[in-house]
Amino acid sequence: MTPTEFDACHLWHPYSSLSDPGPTHMIAEAEGVWLIRPDGTRMIDAMSSWWCASHGHRHPVIVAAMEAQLRRMPHVMFGGLTHQPAIDMGRSLTRLLPQGLDRIFFCDSGSVSVEVALKMAVQYQMAMGRGNKTGFATIRGGYHGDSWKAMSVCDPVNGMHGLFRGALSIQNFLPRPPVRFGEAWPDAPDRNGLAGLEALLAAKGNGIAALILEPVVQGAGGMYFYHPEWLRGAKALCAAHDVLLIFDEIATGFGRSGRMFAMDHAGITPDILCLGKALTGGHISLAATVATAHIAAEIGNDAAGVFMHGPTYMANPLACAAGAASLSLLEDGAWRDRVAQIETQMREELEAARNLPGVADIRTLGAIGVIEMKDRVDPRIAHARASRTGIWLRPFGRNIYCMPPFIITPEQLSRVTAEMVSLAAGAS
Ligand code: PLP
Repeated sequence: MTPTEFDACHLWHPYSSLSDPGPTHMIAEAEGVWLIRPDGTRMIDAMSSWWCASHGHRHPVIVAAMEAQLRRMPHVMFGGLTHQPAIDMGRSLTRLLPQGLDRIFFCDSGSVSVEVALKMAVQYQMAMGRGNKTGFATIRGGYHGDSWKAMSVCDPVNGMHGLFRGALSIQNFLPRPPVRFGEAWPDAPDRNGLAGLEALLAAKGNGIAALILEPVVQGAGGMYFYHPEWLRGAKALCAAHDVLLIFDEIATGFGRSGRMFAMDHAGITPDILCLGKALTGGHISLAATVATAHIAAEIGNDAAGVFMHGPTYMANPLACAAGAASLSLLEDGAWRDRVAQIETQMREELEAARNLPGVADIRTLGAIGVIEMKDRVDPRIAHARASRTGIWLRPFGRNIYCMPPFIITPEQLSRVTAEMVSLAAGAS
């Protein structure tokens, strides 16, 4: 068997079938914006490898930090032991996070960080004597990961996990906030979508531990950008019903939406925050769930007296070293201008697709650009074109979208937007 035959026969890829595995590109190296094949030909990674590689691949500062850590200590357990990389990573995070969010639980993937957040919410409510609050509320169009409880708060109808609907616990779903980012905000709750949340919390708030959602940008559930004001209203309603607010910034954190965190568009903070993906700049898996001091203190006071979770690779030193180095690259703030330039350029260049018959909408926010089509786009077409065009895109559902590394040059970005417009034209 050739290496690619072995891959197709034995190795599952994300959301794939081993009976009909579909094509793959062999990648031997990655550097900056480039994915490099064994024969040296290159593609621009316009996906930042699914939101991760915000500083570009193999960034010298992150690689140096990882190499130094690798020679000292790739891993030790975190139960009963601690180490400098975890402390450095924790300090960097607390510097970047809004004040008040500073009790950090490290874990190994975004989905686990969501599981941890949901569990923290229930354990907190139990500690507060509200043991009946075990359910969750969320909005349609959300995506929070592929593990069991995370799946139960993903959109059950249009989302990726409808197949498992019968096996998932039933949660409370609200329509997605109807007012889009940039539209005028109507104050009337029946027009801005907050009336639904108010009614849900009044009727069932006694059984709801937390409202979980992706602030402002819904990613895998449709690349939908909604009005930040909705979040401000939601926060006030949750507080009135002793329902915690969990923000999932696994995709949007660390500059992607033009602000350090997407919640900064609303100027509010949640009780619990989920982080992942770009936490290490795409160099190794690391995630975190961050709570307020109040929540951490109350969980410590409950019957168990401890938070009942502890991944084997928690706070892995290699990942923490990568994370601290990646966050250090954000601390001087230079990324802000770069992301603003990317947004302006994408907004101008994607307009070329506006009048194509198959196009439903075009939207950009920060370093995220989306052409929404009227019909589903076949990702295999983009895949097949990538070898020729040198642009790596992976359309999903009806969306042709990109979220390039922040270091992409204007010339490289023009190639990406031209390929998106060309794909939209082909699918029209
Ligand atoms: N939450 C959001 C908003 C995501 O976009 C993702 C992944 O795409 C996850 C959670 C799950 O993260 P992971 O794939 O690291 O488990």
